[in-house]
Amino acid sequence: MLLIGDFKEQDLSNPAWALAKMQLEDTPLLEAIASSSIHDIFESCAQSITMLAWAFASFGWEHTPLLNAISSQSLRICADFQAPDISGIAWSLATLVLQDVPLISALSEAAIQMLTNFDSVTISITAWSWARFRIIDVPLIDAISASAIAKLQDFGAQEIGNTAWAISVFSVADGTLLDALAQKFLATSETPGSSTRASAPDSSDGGGVEWVEVASAVTAAAHRSGHALVGNAAKLEAVFAEYLFWPLVRSVVDLANPLVSHSGAYQRLSNLVDELGAAHLGPDYTRLALPLVSRSRRPPKSWVEGARAAVGSALGGRVGAGTTERCVVFAAACLVWRDEVVELPNRVYMALPRGPPQPIGDCPEDRARALIRHVHRHVLRDNHAERAALLAAMTAAVRLTGDGGEDGIGSVLAECTGGLRLYGSHVPCISCVCALAQFNRFLPAVVLEVEFEDAWRTSQSNYADLPMKREDGTSR
Ligand SMILES: [Zn+2]
Repeated sequence: MLLIGDFKEQDLSNPAWALAKMQLEDTPLLEAIASSSIHDIFESCAQSITMLAWAFASFGWEHTPLLNAISSQSLRICADFQAPDISGIAWSLATLVLQDVPLISALSEAAIQMLTNFDSVTISITAWSWARFRIIDVPLIDAISASAIAKLQDFGAQEIGNTAWAISVFSVADGTLLDALAQKFLATSETPGSSTRASAPDSSDGGGVEWVEVASAVTAAAHRSGHALVGNAAKLEAVFAEYLFWPLVRSVVDLANPLVSHSGAYQRLSNLVDELGAAHLGPDYTRLALPLVSRSRRPPKSWVEGARAAVGSALGGRVGAGTTERCVVFAAACLVWRDEVVELPNRVYMALPRGPPQPIGDCPEDRARALIRHVHRHVLRDNHAERAALLAAMTAAVRLTGDGGEDGIGSVLAECTGGLRLYGSHVPCISCVCALAQFNRFLPAVVLEVEFEDAWRTSQSNYADLPMKREDGTSR
Protein backbone atom coordinates (compact mmCIF):
# COMPACT_ATOMS: atom_id res chain seq x y z
CA MET A 1 0.00 0.00 0.00
CA LEU A 2 2.95 2.35 0.72
CA LEU A 3 3.97 2.11 -2.93
CA ILE A 4 0.56 2.82 -4.34
CA GLY A 5 1.40 6.46 -5.18
CA ASP A 6 4.02 5.16 -7.66
CA PHE A 7 1.57 2.86 -9.46
CA LYS A 8 0.40 3.63 -12.97
CA GLU A 9 -3.28 3.34 -13.96
CA GLN A 10 -3.01 -0.24 -15.20
CA ASP A 11 -1.18 -1.19 -11.97
CA LEU A 12 -4.12 0.11 -9.95
CA SER A 13 -6.97 -1.50 -11.85
CA ASN A 14 -5.28 -4.90 -11.70
CA PRO A 15 -5.16 -5.22 -7.87
CA ALA A 16 -8.71 -3.81 -7.60
CA TRP A 17 -9.90 -6.40 -10.11
CA ALA A 18 -8.03 -9.18 -8.28
CA LEU A 19 -9.51 -8.20 -4.90
CA ALA A 20 -13.01 -8.24 -6.44
CA LYS A 21 -12.41 -11.62 -8.08
CA MET A 22 -11.42 -13.04 -4.69
CA GLN A 23 -14.20 -11.05 -2.93
CA LEU A 24 -11.51 -9.79 -0.55
CA GLU A 25 -12.93 -6.48 0.71
CA ASP A 26 -9.74 -4.80 1.94
CA THR A 27 -11.18 -1.37 2.78
CA PRO A 28 -7.91 0.57 3.36
CA LEU A 29 -6.38 -0.82 0.15
CA LEU A 30 -9.53 -0.11 -1.90
CA GLU A 31 -9.66 3.44 -0.51
CA ALA A 32 -6.00 3.95 -1.45
CA ILE A 33 -6.64 2.56 -4.96
CA ALA A 34 -9.67 4.86 -5.37
CA SER A 35 -7.74 7.99 -4.29
CA SER A 36 -4.79 7.28 -6.58
CA SER A 37 -7.05 6.30 -9.48
CA ILE A 38 -8.93 9.60 -9.31
CA HIS A 39 -5.62 11.43 -9.56
CA ASP A 40 -4.47 9.51 -12.64
CA ILE A 41 -7.83 8.90 -14.30
CA PHE A 42 -7.13 11.04 -17.38
CA GLU A 43 -4.31 8.70 -18.37
CA SER A 44 -6.51 5.61 -18.05
CA CYS A 45 -7.45 3.47 -21.01
CA ALA A 46 -10.88 1.90 -21.58
CA GLN A 47 -9.84 -1.47 -20.16
CA SER A 48 -8.45 0.02 -16.93
CA ILE A 49 -11.56 2.11 -16.34
CA THR A 50 -13.81 -0.89 -16.94
CA MET A 51 -11.81 -3.04 -14.51
CA LEU A 52 -11.93 -0.33 -11.84
CA ALA A 53 -15.66 0.25 -12.23
CA TRP A 54 -16.35 -3.48 -12.24
CA ALA A 55 -14.27 -4.07 -9.10
CA PHE A 56 -15.91 -1.35 -7.01
CA ALA A 57 -19.41 -2.31 -8.21
CA SER A 58 -18.70 -5.96 -7.30
CA PHE A 59 -18.26 -4.82 -3.70
CA GLY A 60 -21.35 -2.59 -3.94
CA TRP A 61 -19.10 0.40 -3.21
CA GLU A 62 -20.75 3.63 -4.31
CA HIS A 63 -17.53 5.67 -4.19
CA THR A 64 -18.91 8.93 -5.59
CA PRO A 65 -15.61 10.79 -6.32
CA LEU A 66 -14.19 7.73 -8.10
CA LEU A 67 -17.43 7.12 -10.01
CA ASN A 68 -17.51 10.77 -11.11
CA ALA A 69 -13.91 10.46 -12.33
CA ILE A 70 -14.67 7.18 -14.16
CA SER A 71 -17.72 8.80 -15.70
CA SER A 72 -15.78 11.85 -16.98
CA GLN A 73 -13.00 9.76 -18.47
CA SER A 74 -15.49 7.28 -20.00
CA LEU A 75 -17.28 10.14 -21.76
CA ARG A 76 -13.94 11.39 -23.08
CA ILE A 77 -12.79 8.07 -24.53
CA CYS A 78 -16.14 6.42 -25.28
CA ALA A 79 -15.17 6.14 -28.96
CA ASP A 80 -12.38 3.70 -27.99
CA PHE A 81 -14.73 1.37 -26.11
CA GLN A 82 -15.00 -2.23 -27.24
CA ALA A 83 -17.98 -4.51 -26.46
CA PRO A 84 -16.64 -5.71 -23.05
CA ASP A 85 -15.97 -2.08 -22.00
CA ILE A 86 -19.51 -0.96 -22.88
CA SER A 87 -21.17 -3.89 -21.14
CA GLY A 88 -18.69 -3.75 -18.22
CA ILE A 89 -19.26 -0.05 -17.46
CA ALA A 90 -23.02 -0.49 -17.97
CA TRP A 91 -23.06 -3.52 -15.64
CA SER A 92 -21.19 -1.53 -12.98
CA LEU A 93 -23.61 1.41 -13.11
CA ALA A 94 -26.63 -0.94 -13.18
CA THR A 95 -25.33 -3.00 -10.26
CA LEU A 96 -24.97 0.18 -8.20
CA VAL A 97 -28.36 1.39 -9.61
CA LEU A 98 -26.83 4.68 -10.76
CA GLN A 99 -28.67 6.60 -13.47
CA ASP A 100 -25.73 8.53 -14.86
CA VAL A 101 -27.75 9.86 -17.80
CA PRO A 102 -24.98 11.45 -19.96
CA LEU A 103 -22.79 8.35 -19.67
CA ILE A 104 -25.65 5.87 -20.19
CA SER A 105 -26.76 7.83 -23.25
CA ALA A 106 -23.20 7.79 -24.67
CA LEU A 107 -22.86 4.07 -23.93
CA SER A 108 -26.16 3.44 -25.72
CA GLU A 109 -24.92 5.21 -28.87
CA ALA A 110 -21.70 3.21 -28.80
CA ALA A 111 -23.57 -0.06 -28.17
CA ILE A 112 -25.98 0.49 -31.08
CA GLN A 113 -23.00 0.92 -33.44
CA MET A 114 -21.31 -2.25 -32.22
CA LEU A 115 -24.02 -4.67 -31.14
CA THR A 116 -23.45 -6.96 -34.08
CA ASN A 117 -19.98 -7.60 -32.57
CA PHE A 118 -21.35 -8.42 -29.10
CA ASP A 119 -21.35 -12.03 -27.92
CA SER A 120 -24.23 -13.65 -26.03
CA VAL A 121 -22.87 -12.62 -22.62
CA THR A 122 -22.36 -8.94 -23.48
CA ILE A 123 -25.76 -8.80 -25.23
CA SER A 124 -27.55 -10.14 -22.15
CA ILE A 125 -25.58 -7.89 -19.76
CA THR A 126 -26.46 -4.87 -21.92
CA ALA A 127 -30.18 -5.80 -21.89
CA TRP A 128 -30.09 -6.44 -18.13
CA SER A 129 -28.31 -3.14 -17.44
CA TRP A 130 -30.74 -0.95 -19.40
CA ALA A 131 -33.68 -2.65 -17.68
CA ARG A 132 -32.14 -1.73 -14.32
CA PHE A 133 -31.57 1.83 -15.59
CA ARG A 134 -35.34 1.79 -16.17
CA ILE A 135 -34.90 3.43 -19.56
CA ILE A 136 -36.94 2.45 -22.61
CA ASP A 137 -34.31 3.11 -25.29
CA VAL A 138 -36.16 1.84 -28.38
CA PRO A 139 -33.25 1.94 -30.90
CA LEU A 140 -31.03 0.08 -28.40
CA ILE A 141 -33.76 -2.47 -27.59
CA ASP A 142 -34.27 -3.09 -31.33
CA ALA A 143 -30.52 -3.60 -31.78
CA ILE A 144 -30.36 -5.96 -28.76
CA SER A 145 -33.30 -7.94 -30.09
CA ALA A 146 -31.78 -8.36 -33.58
CA SER A 147 -28.39 -9.37 -32.17
CA ALA A 148 -29.91 -11.76 -29.63
CA ILE A 149 -31.86 -13.59 -32.34
CA ALA A 150 -28.74 -13.76 -34.53
CA LYS A 151 -26.61 -15.19 -31.67
CA LEU A 152 -29.30 -17.30 -29.99
CA GLN A 153 -27.43 -20.56 -30.48
CA ASP A 154 -24.74 -19.29 -28.04
CA PHE A 155 -27.15 -18.28 -25.26
CA GLY A 156 -26.94 -20.25 -22.01
CA ALA A 157 -29.58 -20.33 -19.26
CA GLN A 158 -28.28 -17.24 -17.49
CA GLU A 159 -28.13 -15.14 -20.67
CA ILE A 160 -31.67 -16.25 -21.59
CA GLY A 161 -32.94 -15.46 -18.08
CA ASN A 162 -31.37 -11.98 -18.05
CA THR A 163 -32.56 -11.12 -21.55
CA ALA A 164 -36.11 -12.41 -20.98
CA TRP A 165 -36.30 -10.44 -17.73
CA ALA A 166 -35.09 -7.26 -19.47
CA ILE A 167 -37.55 -7.64 -22.37
CA SER A 168 -40.32 -8.12 -19.81
CA VAL A 169 -39.29 -5.02 -17.84
CA PHE A 170 -39.12 -2.96 -21.05
CA SER A 171 -42.74 -4.06 -21.67
CA VAL A 172 -42.10 -4.06 -25.41
CA ALA A 173 -44.16 -6.40 -27.53
CA ASP A 174 -41.21 -8.50 -28.68
CA GLY A 175 -43.04 -11.79 -29.12
CA THR A 176 -40.54 -13.11 -31.66
CA LEU A 177 -37.53 -12.79 -29.35
CA LEU A 178 -39.43 -14.01 -26.29
CA ASP A 179 -40.68 -17.10 -28.12
CA ALA A 180 -37.18 -17.82 -29.44
CA LEU A 181 -35.75 -17.45 -25.92
CA ALA A 182 -38.43 -19.78 -24.49
CA GLN A 183 -37.72 -22.37 -27.17
CA LYS A 184 -33.96 -22.24 -26.61
CA PHE A 185 -34.43 -22.36 -22.82
CA LEU A 186 -36.64 -25.44 -23.04
CA ALA A 187 -34.17 -27.12 -25.36
CA THR A 188 -31.09 -26.50 -23.20
CA SER A 189 -32.15 -26.21 -19.54
CA GLU A 190 -32.58 -29.02 -17.10
CA THR A 191 -35.93 -29.49 -15.44
CA PRO A 192 -35.93 -27.40 -12.21
CA GLY A 193 -34.33 -29.34 -9.36
CA SER A 194 -33.28 -32.13 -11.73
CA SER A 195 -30.52 -34.32 -10.36
CA THR A 196 -29.43 -35.25 -13.87
CA ARG A 197 -27.41 -32.15 -14.56
CA ALA A 198 -24.94 -32.44 -17.37
CA SER A 199 -21.98 -30.80 -15.66
CA ALA A 200 -20.52 -28.97 -12.68
CA PRO A 201 -22.96 -30.17 -10.01
CA ASP A 202 -20.95 -28.38 -7.31
CA SER A 203 -21.25 -24.94 -8.80
CA SER A 204 -24.63 -25.42 -10.43
CA ASP A 205 -28.06 -25.47 -8.86
CA GLY A 206 -31.57 -26.14 -10.12
CA GLY A 207 -31.47 -23.00 -12.25
CA GLY A 208 -34.52 -21.72 -10.39
CA VAL A 209 -33.67 -18.05 -10.84
CA GLU A 210 -33.60 -18.44 -14.63
CA TRP A 211 -36.78 -20.54 -14.66
CA VAL A 212 -38.57 -17.83 -12.67
CA GLU A 213 -37.34 -15.05 -15.00
CA VAL A 214 -38.29 -16.82 -18.23
CA ALA A 215 -41.66 -18.12 -16.97
CA SER A 216 -42.48 -14.69 -15.52
CA ALA A 217 -41.57 -12.99 -18.82
CA VAL A 218 -43.77 -15.24 -21.00
CA THR A 219 -46.77 -15.06 -18.65
CA ALA A 220 -46.47 -11.25 -18.30
CA ALA A 221 -46.38 -10.93 -22.09
CA ALA A 222 -49.47 -13.14 -22.37
CA HIS A 223 -51.33 -11.07 -19.75
CA ARG A 224 -50.43 -7.86 -21.58
CA SER A 225 -51.65 -9.17 -24.92
CA GLY A 226 -54.80 -10.68 -23.41
CA HIS A 227 -54.08 -13.98 -25.18
CA ALA A 228 -53.63 -17.40 -23.59
CA LEU A 229 -50.17 -18.95 -23.50
CA VAL A 230 -49.48 -21.09 -26.55
CA GLY A 231 -46.60 -23.08 -28.04
CA ASN A 232 -43.20 -22.88 -26.34
CA ALA A 233 -44.43 -20.38 -23.76
CA ALA A 234 -47.26 -22.69 -22.66
CA LYS A 235 -44.95 -25.70 -22.45
CA LEU A 236 -42.37 -23.76 -20.47
CA GLU A 237 -44.97 -22.44 -18.03
CA ALA A 238 -46.33 -25.96 -17.48
CA VAL A 239 -42.87 -27.35 -16.62
CA PHE A 240 -42.19 -24.37 -14.34
CA ALA A 241 -45.52 -24.84 -12.53
CA GLU A 242 -45.09 -28.58 -12.05
CA TYR A 243 -41.44 -28.70 -11.00
CA LEU A 244 -40.85 -25.37 -9.31
CA PHE A 245 -43.90 -23.28 -8.44
CA TRP A 246 -46.19 -25.90 -6.90
CA PRO A 247 -43.49 -27.85 -5.01
CA LEU A 248 -42.27 -24.59 -3.46
CA VAL A 249 -45.78 -23.39 -2.62
CA ARG A 250 -46.68 -26.76 -1.04
CA SER A 251 -43.51 -26.62 1.02
CA VAL A 252 -44.19 -23.05 2.22
CA VAL A 253 -47.78 -24.06 3.05
CA ASP A 254 -46.32 -26.72 5.38
CA LEU A 255 -44.42 -23.95 7.11
CA ALA A 256 -47.74 -22.19 7.75
CA ASN A 257 -49.50 -25.35 8.93
CA PRO A 258 -49.47 -25.87 12.73
CA LEU A 259 -50.16 -29.59 12.18
CA VAL A 260 -46.69 -29.96 10.62
CA SER A 261 -43.60 -29.59 12.83
CA HIS A 262 -42.11 -26.10 12.42
CA SER A 263 -38.49 -27.22 12.43
CA GLY A 264 -39.22 -30.14 10.08
CA ALA A 265 -41.10 -27.95 7.60
CA TYR A 266 -38.35 -25.30 7.81
CA GLN A 267 -35.63 -27.85 7.08
CA ARG A 268 -37.49 -29.37 4.13
CA LEU A 269 -38.23 -25.93 2.69
CA SER A 270 -34.58 -24.85 3.06
CA ASN A 271 -33.41 -28.01 1.29
CA LEU A 272 -35.92 -27.49 -1.53
CA VAL A 273 -34.91 -23.84 -2.01
CA ASP A 274 -31.27 -24.99 -2.34
CA GLU A 275 -32.16 -27.86 -4.65
CA LEU A 276 -34.25 -25.66 -6.97
CA GLY A 277 -31.95 -22.67 -6.72
CA ALA A 278 -34.87 -20.30 -6.27
CA ALA A 279 -34.36 -16.89 -4.63
CA HIS A 280 -37.77 -15.38 -5.42
CA LEU A 281 -40.89 -16.15 -7.46
CA GLY A 282 -41.08 -12.95 -9.52
CA PRO A 283 -43.90 -10.40 -9.27
CA ASP A 284 -46.79 -12.36 -10.80
CA TYR A 285 -46.10 -15.74 -9.16
CA THR A 286 -45.49 -14.11 -5.77
CA ARG A 287 -48.92 -12.45 -6.05
CA LEU A 288 -50.37 -15.88 -6.83
CA ALA A 289 -48.55 -17.61 -3.96
CA LEU A 290 -49.07 -15.15 -1.11
CA PRO A 291 -52.79 -15.75 -0.47
CA LEU A 292 -52.15 -19.52 -0.59
CA VAL A 293 -49.21 -19.63 1.79
CA SER A 294 -50.08 -16.84 4.24
CA ARG A 295 -53.84 -16.46 3.75
CA SER A 296 -53.19 -12.79 3.01
CA ARG A 297 -55.19 -10.39 0.90
CA ARG A 298 -54.52 -6.97 -0.57
CA PRO A 299 -54.91 -3.88 1.65
CA PRO A 300 -57.46 -1.16 0.77
CA LYS A 301 -56.41 1.15 -2.10
CA SER A 302 -56.52 4.26 0.07
CA TRP A 303 -53.98 2.77 2.51
CA VAL A 304 -51.78 1.58 -0.38
CA GLU A 305 -51.68 5.12 -1.82
CA GLY A 306 -50.44 6.49 1.50
CA ALA A 307 -47.96 3.61 1.84
CA ARG A 308 -46.58 4.23 -1.67
CA ALA A 309 -46.08 7.92 -0.89
CA ALA A 310 -44.34 7.12 2.43
CA VAL A 311 -42.03 4.56 0.77
CA GLY A 312 -41.25 7.03 -2.05
CA SER A 313 -40.38 9.73 0.45
CA ALA A 314 -38.19 7.35 2.50
CA LEU A 315 -36.31 6.39 -0.67
CA GLY A 316 -35.81 10.04 -1.65
CA GLY A 317 -35.85 9.34 -5.39
CA ARG A 318 -33.72 6.20 -5.19
CA VAL A 319 -34.93 2.92 -6.66
CA GLY A 320 -36.44 0.65 -3.95
CA ALA A 321 -34.60 -2.46 -5.17
CA GLY A 322 -31.16 -3.70 -6.17
CA THR A 323 -29.65 -4.15 -2.71
CA THR A 324 -31.10 -5.22 0.65
CA GLU A 325 -30.61 -1.70 2.00
CA ARG A 326 -32.65 -0.14 -0.82
CA CYS A 327 -35.72 -2.37 -0.22
CA VAL A 328 -38.02 -0.77 2.34
CA VAL A 329 -41.52 -1.52 3.60
CA PHE A 330 -44.32 0.48 5.16
CA ALA A 331 -46.35 -1.40 7.73
CA ALA A 332 -48.81 -1.10 10.60
CA ALA A 333 -50.38 -3.62 12.99
CA CYS A 334 -53.05 -3.82 15.62
CA LEU A 335 -52.98 -6.83 17.99
CA VAL A 336 -55.83 -7.73 20.34
CA TRP A 337 -55.43 -10.30 23.12
CA ARG A 338 -58.21 -10.80 25.66
CA ASP A 339 -58.92 -7.24 26.81
CA GLU A 340 -55.59 -5.76 25.77
CA VAL A 341 -54.75 -3.94 22.56
CA VAL A 342 -51.33 -3.08 21.13
CA GLU A 343 -50.96 -0.79 18.14
CA LEU A 344 -47.90 -0.49 15.92
CA PRO A 345 -48.63 2.68 13.97
CA ASN A 346 -47.87 3.15 10.27
CA ARG A 347 -44.15 3.50 9.72
CA VAL A 348 -41.34 2.75 7.31
CA TYR A 349 -39.10 -0.23 8.10
CA MET A 350 -35.62 -0.35 6.62
CA ALA A 351 -33.27 -3.34 6.45
CA LEU A 352 -31.92 -4.34 9.86
CA PRO A 353 -28.24 -4.65 10.67
CA ARG A 354 -27.20 -8.25 10.13
CA GLY A 355 -27.99 -10.23 13.27
CA PRO A 356 -26.77 -13.56 14.56
CA PRO A 357 -27.97 -16.39 12.28
CA GLN A 358 -29.90 -18.10 15.08
CA PRO A 359 -31.72 -16.68 18.11
CA ILE A 360 -29.34 -16.69 21.03
CA GLY A 361 -31.45 -15.70 24.04
CA ASP A 362 -34.92 -15.86 25.52
CA CYS A 363 -36.05 -12.24 25.33
CA PRO A 364 -39.24 -11.52 23.29
CA GLU A 365 -37.10 -10.33 20.33
CA ASP A 366 -35.16 -13.61 20.24
CA ARG A 367 -38.31 -15.68 20.64
CA ALA A 368 -39.89 -13.78 17.73
CA ARG A 369 -36.78 -14.50 15.60
CA ALA A 370 -37.16 -18.21 16.37
CA LEU A 371 -40.80 -18.13 15.20
CA ILE A 372 -40.10 -16.17 11.99
CA ARG A 373 -36.97 -17.79 10.60
CA HIS A 374 -35.22 -16.53 7.51
CA VAL A 375 -34.32 -18.84 4.65
CA HIS A 376 -30.71 -18.75 3.56
CA ARG A 377 -30.14 -18.63 -0.19
CA HIS A 378 -26.66 -17.52 -1.43
CA VAL A 379 -26.76 -14.68 1.11
CA LEU A 380 -28.16 -14.25 4.61
CA ARG A 381 -31.70 -12.90 4.34
CA ASP A 382 -32.19 -12.32 8.05
CA ASN A 383 -32.21 -8.52 7.87
CA HIS A 384 -34.79 -7.86 5.11
CA ALA A 385 -37.20 -5.00 5.76
CA GLU A 386 -40.29 -7.27 5.39
CA ARG A 387 -38.97 -9.53 8.16
CA ALA A 388 -38.11 -6.45 10.27
CA ALA A 389 -41.77 -5.34 10.18
CA LEU A 390 -43.07 -8.87 10.91
CA LEU A 391 -40.57 -9.29 13.78
CA ALA A 392 -41.73 -5.99 15.34
CA ALA A 393 -45.34 -7.26 15.37
CA MET A 394 -44.39 -10.79 16.50
CA THR A 395 -42.25 -9.37 19.33
CA ALA A 396 -45.22 -7.26 20.44
CA ALA A 397 -47.46 -10.36 20.35
CA VAL A 398 -44.96 -12.42 22.38
CA ARG A 399 -44.69 -9.61 24.93
CA LEU A 400 -48.48 -9.18 25.04
CA THR A 401 -49.30 -12.85 25.58
CA GLY A 402 -46.18 -14.02 27.40
CA ASP A 403 -46.15 -16.90 24.89
CA GLY A 404 -43.49 -17.74 22.35
CA GLY A 405 -43.45 -21.51 22.16
CA GLU A 406 -42.91 -23.48 18.99
CA ASP A 407 -46.35 -25.12 18.94
CA GLY A 408 -49.03 -23.03 17.27
CA ILE A 409 -51.92 -25.30 18.19
CA GLY A 410 -53.75 -24.20 21.29
CA SER A 411 -51.00 -21.74 22.08
CA VAL A 412 -51.77 -18.43 23.72
CA LEU A 413 -50.29 -16.59 20.71
CA ALA A 414 -52.97 -18.11 18.48
CA GLU A 415 -55.62 -16.31 20.57
CA CYS A 416 -54.38 -12.95 19.23
CA THR A 417 -56.65 -11.24 16.73
CA GLY A 418 -56.26 -8.00 14.80
CA GLY A 419 -54.44 -7.24 11.57
CA LEU A 420 -51.14 -6.38 9.93
CA ARG A 421 -50.71 -4.36 6.73
CA LEU A 422 -47.47 -4.39 4.80
CA TYR A 423 -46.40 -2.60 1.60
CA GLY A 424 -43.01 -3.33 0.03
CA SER A 425 -40.92 -1.23 -2.36
CA HIS A 426 -40.10 -4.43 -4.27
CA VAL A 427 -41.16 -8.06 -4.77
CA PRO A 428 -40.61 -10.05 -1.52
CA CYS A 429 -37.94 -12.75 -1.81
CA ILE A 430 -38.65 -16.40 -0.99
CA SER A 431 -37.36 -15.89 2.57
CA CYS A 432 -39.82 -13.04 3.16
CA VAL A 433 -42.69 -15.06 1.64
CA CYS A 434 -41.77 -17.76 4.20
CA ALA A 435 -41.69 -15.11 6.95
CA LEU A 436 -45.28 -14.16 6.07
CA ALA A 437 -46.29 -17.85 6.13
CA GLN A 438 -44.72 -18.31 9.57
CA PHE A 439 -46.41 -15.14 10.86
CA ASN A 440 -49.72 -16.69 9.79
CA ARG A 441 -48.79 -20.01 11.42
CA PHE A 442 -48.28 -18.51 14.88
CA LEU A 443 -50.82 -15.67 14.62
CA PRO A 444 -53.53 -17.33 12.49
CA ALA A 445 -56.29 -14.94 13.61
CA VAL A 446 -54.32 -11.79 12.76
CA VAL A 447 -55.46 -10.79 9.26
CA LEU A 448 -52.53 -10.21 6.90
CA GLU A 449 -52.82 -7.63 4.11
CA VAL A 450 -49.85 -7.45 1.74
CA GLU A 451 -49.03 -5.38 -1.34
CA PHE A 452 -45.76 -4.59 -3.13
CA GLU A 453 -44.48 -2.96 -6.26
CA ASP A 454 -42.01 -4.13 -8.84
CA ALA A 455 -39.38 -1.40 -8.54
CA TRP A 456 -37.89 -2.01 -11.99
CA ARG A 457 -41.09 -1.60 -13.97
CA THR A 458 -41.61 2.13 -13.53
CA SER A 459 -39.57 2.80 -16.67
CA GLN A 460 -38.98 6.10 -18.43
CA SER A 461 -39.75 6.43 -22.11
CA ASN A 462 -36.51 8.22 -22.97
CA TYR A 463 -33.42 9.91 -21.55
CA ALA A 464 -35.05 13.38 -21.59
CA ASP A 465 -37.52 12.25 -18.91
CA LEU A 466 -34.72 11.61 -16.44
CA PRO A 467 -33.27 14.19 -14.09
CA MET A 468 -29.73 15.13 -15.13
CA LYS A 469 -28.17 14.46 -11.78
CA ARG A 470 -26.57 11.73 -9.78
CA GLU A 471 -28.33 10.02 -6.92
CA ASP A 472 -26.11 11.80 -4.40
CA GLY A 473 -27.76 15.03 -5.54
CA THR A 474 -24.79 16.51 -7.37
CA SER A 475 -25.71 18.02 -10.71
CA ARG A 476 -23.85 16.85 -13.75
ZN1 LIG B 1 -36.58 -10.83 1.55
